[in-house]
Amino acid sequence: MPITPVEPVLIAGAGLSGSVIARELAEAGLNVRIFEARNHIAGNCHTARDPETGVMVHHYGPHIFHTGNGAVWSYVNRFAKMQPYRHSVRTTVGGRTYSLPVNLTTINQFFGTNLTPKEAEAFVKARADQSIRDPESFEDQALAMMGPELYKAFFKGYTQKQWGCDPRQLPTSILKRLPLRFTADDSYFNHPHQGLPDGGYTAMVAAILDHPGITVHLNTPLDPANPPGRGHLIWSGPLDAYFGHRLGRLGYRTLKFEHHRTWGDFQGIPVMNYGDADVPQTRITEHKHFTPWECHARTIYTCETSHAAGAGDIPYYPIRLVEEKALLAGYVAKAGAETGVTFVGRLGTYRYLDMDVCIAEAFDVAAAILAAHKGGTAPPAFVHPPLG
Ligand code: UDP
Repeated sequence: MPITPVEPVLIAGAGLSGSVIARELAEAGLNVRIFEARNHIAGNCHTARDPETGVMVHHYGPHIFHTGNGAVWSYVNRFAKMQPYRHSVRTTVGGRTYSLPVNLTTINQFFGTNLTPKEAEAFVKARADQSIRDPESFEDQALAMMGPELYKAFFKGYTQKQWGCDPRQLPTSILKRLPLRFTADDSYFNHPHQGLPDGGYTAMVAAILDHPGITVHLNTPLDPANPPGRGHLIWSGPLDAYFGHRLGRLGYRTLKFEHHRTWGDFQGIPVMNYGDADVPQTRITEHKHFTPWECHARTIYTCETSHAAGAGDIPYYPIRLVEEKALLAGYVAKAGAETGVTFVGRLGTYRYLDMDVCIAEAFDVAAAILAAHKGGTAPPAFVHPPLG
């Protein structure tokens, strides 16, 4: 039975989390108002056509949709035609180009060998540091998995540039995002479902938000100290910003992008990583390769560098070093003491989340809010714990 609440639900942020929650609530009969500080929807997966080249540009860095969650895959296919796409990345190290993620081809290219899968596995195992039984950092994890040569070439420099710190300070979970394979499979992701929305992510999110129960206000930051209504608030902005950074600022990495245009094909692949610590960029993205079903005479490519986020920068990656975790615990305690607000998404829960996880969690948050409405209780501050 649809529910008829007195007050519309307020959502801060029209990214994937906020938009999917809005849709789920609107379909259940709630009225929802979304407040988005930027001049566009879709958060950091925003895409728009470059007027000069006609190419669809991933404005905040490459976003590839991949998932093992059938419900999430069905959901995105409901709102966009998902074009088949298999993400492929190369890396340039010491002036040479290698296959990624590290696989049989990479191993043979790098060591100048001609190993079979079985031989490669034994070869890498012999280099791996077997004394590391319980890796505690990114570096330990890498040394235990692949040994010093592959780690230093492909991970150490890139990770220092990307995260602005020594990989010994970073958690193992960051490295665990990437597979190590002893076959020649160079697909960047293991998930069975991969694809890109035919008309870009912004069109997909616009379709999600296209419901009579949803009103979107662009260029309208929501001030949590002075909310524009009395309904329940879903906060997908930074957790520390909700509290006016009262305990201090949680650390984020921000990205800077430099766009270039030329004719033809610049690098022949969507993403080229740069593993050397003394090459400033982490990667170059050539956007036309995200739409192989389109044809463009010109091309636009983007050099990406990573920096510590200052007060006015867009936050991308939560850093989660020891200091951030202590601060986070303080904010989580404050959040738990609030009523009338639920914190969601990458910024609201301060976690490194992929798009499919944002959508899956948005389903859970919407279900929890609907259950609370039905039961006449207050929805929880967090549906998923932000620590860990
Ligand atoms: N990474 C690396 N070298 C590479 C690619 C990735 O060291 O060529 C490390 C780096 O620390 C990065 C992490 O692996 O942050 C996860 O990589 P992923 O491609 O998932 O990063 P994203 O695309 O989310 O920035």
